[in-house]
Amino acid sequence: MFGAMKDDLQIALENLKTKGLYKSERIIAGPQDAVMHVKRPDGATREVLNFCANNYLGLGNHPALIRAASQAMERYGYGYASVRFICGTSDLHRELEEKVAEFLGMDDAILYAAAFDANGGVFEPLLGEDDAIISDALNHASIIDGVRLCKARRYRYAHADLDDLEKQLQAAHDAGSRYRVIATDGVFSMDGDIAPLPGIAELAERYDALVMVDDCHATGYLGEGGRGTADYFGLQGKIDIVTTTFGKALGGASGGCTAGRREIVEMLRQRSRPYLFSNSLAPAVVGATLRALQIVEEEPERRTRPLELASRLRSALTAGGLDVLPTETAIVPVMLYDEVTALDMADRLLDRGIYVIGFAYPVVPRGRARIRVQLSAAHTEEQVDRAAEEFLEVAREMKRE
Ligand SMILES: *Cc1c(COP(=O)(O)O)cnc(C)c1O
Repeated sequence: MFGAMKDDLQIALENLKTKGLYKSERIIAGPQDAVMHVKRPDGATREVLNFCANNYLGLGNHPALIRAASQAMERYGYGYASVRFICGTSDLHRELEEKVAEFLGMDDAILYAAAFDANGGVFEPLLGEDDAIISDALNHASIIDGVRLCKARRYRYAHADLDDLEKQLQAAHDAGSRYRVIATDGVFSMDGDIAPLPGIAELAERYDALVMVDDCHATGYLGEGGRGTADYFGLQGKIDIVTTTFGKALGGASGGCTAGRREIVEMLRQRSRPYLFSNSLAPAVVGATLRALQIVEEEPERRTRPLELASRLRSALTAGGLDVLPTETAIVPVMLYDEVTALDMADRLLDRGIYVIGFAYPVVPRGRARIRVQLSAAHTEEQVDRAAEEFLEVAREMKRE
């Protein structure tokens, strides 16, 4: 049977390669950091400056987190070998749920193996066919999957477009929906822009809707206390549901959560399938995430640093004539539009020791290919300046050819 499929897969894979849409994974030797060692095809390793991690706070290889993870393992062991409701809930798990809820300004929180699972399991237990989800067109794949897994009617509004959101809310209202939930990323990872949360919250109030924010790219560094998008806009308490990850700013290992109104979290604990049918989070991750949250509160300069560096890089690239999306986050998208050009430029930068990735369809819309640069508290100003120089040099080189 596989014979026919094998031929078709080979053709499809070849097709991806000729279109420049094939993703090759680069092999890293050693930990995540500003300076890393990437293996070359010949097996030798090359030292590179890394600008493509979600390691916004530079905690990925932080000694305090490694220590906290070890201590948690000493006390709670390596694994729990159980889902939460059987014998997988320790006092450490509950401590993290309470701590993260408090940090995000919510009643309670529930842990998942990943934010992908948090989004996959958030809608289905709460909404049925009489309800409506109104979703930003550029929302993360995991929100889209979560919406698909639930029977609520789906409405999509043009990215960050409040007029269109209002139209869709009106349509959902006119269709006689019982509950309406507006779902949006807090920070959109590919464009690096921030959802217009004040306008969204106002429309939610006017059309009697709930607001769900996926804050994976904001938790830990955006807003006065690093508490994310709601914090950035002073809207904590106005948001009903926040999903987020521990796999980015907060140490970068894995795990995620949904924080929200008490009854919502309580129902997720009863009915959310990725929670009920998947293993309890590893104690090492739980212990280190608690430590990461403590560091966010104790070291505010860690969260302002990537923002300052992003602004520095944005200015240098724009001054040099590159097309950079204007953002207020630690994400700096350099627009190339053409897929092959974006991947080619990223390869040339890697040859010069600057590790960045070109993004093409289906991760971004067709014709919107780009290199996404991400800044971290682990970077120095000199490293950022060096990256800017190499970017401009490669751009000149490609223009000459
Ligand atoms: C990274 C990301 C996720 C997935 O997070 P994991 O914890 O890695 O599964 C979900 N939503 C958004 C917006 C993300 O950026």
